[in-house]
Amino acid sequence: MTDLDPIQWLSAFAALAEDNAELLTELDAAIGDADHGSNIHRGTAAVVAALTETAPGGPAETLKQAGMVLIRTIGGASGPLYGTFFLRFAAAVDSDSLDAATFAKAFRAGVDGIVARGKPETGDKTMYDALAPAVQAFDERLGEGADFAESLDAALRAAEAGRDATILMPARKGRASYLGERSVGHQDPGATSATLLVRAAREVLR
Ligand code: ADP
Ligand code: MG
Repeated sequence: MTDLDPIQWLSAFAALAEDNAELLTELDAAIGDADHGSNIHRGTAAVVAALTETAPGGPAETLKQAGMVLIRTIGGASGPLYGTFFLRFAAAVDSDSLDAATFAKAFRAGVDGIVARGKPETGDKTMYDALAPAVQAFDERLGEGADFAESLDAALRAAEAGRDATILMPARKGRASYLGERSVGHQDPGATSATLLVRAAREVLR
């Protein structure tokens, strides 16, 4: 049974954030304040730096530390949301390895944490529109007997579809909501970075 290495996951997320920082900032320039790329890049780079400075602990400890660093360093609306995701994710990890069943439980807990924090609903044009379908697809595929990688594949496809669907949504949360209907036609930056988070997990599990 394959496990997801949290350090590899966080490192892959940081690498994707770096590669996509310009895109994320362009998306945020259209409907926000043009800082999402630099926010996510700065935050994930700080996580990688913190992980290399401290002695490696178990997955729960690593992911909790990541959450705290993200809250400190991302800023904006997305900092507390990503930070809460990882803190709640970590709190739900009760084993020494991130196997598929543990990931399923923790992924759901993390996304529930985003809901508790930001009160996003489906269709509000936020990161939740990528993450909620991803959690659901992961659980469904795992429940059907798929392995970890196949379930992450389904989660990634669902996140991508959810991200793409934000283009047609008027924003109802965060800065983009000030634009109302004028936000229609633009892909949500947070849904885009959230899809990178799922993609990172998929890439390191290969
Ligand atoms: P800021 O809007 O403060 O500049 P960022 O640009 O880093 O912060 O992040 C913007 C992203 O945060 C949005 O694209 C959206 O996906 C997400 N977001 C904003 N508010 C909420 C919320 N209440 N719930 C969930 N996600 C949110
Ligand atoms: Mg912004």
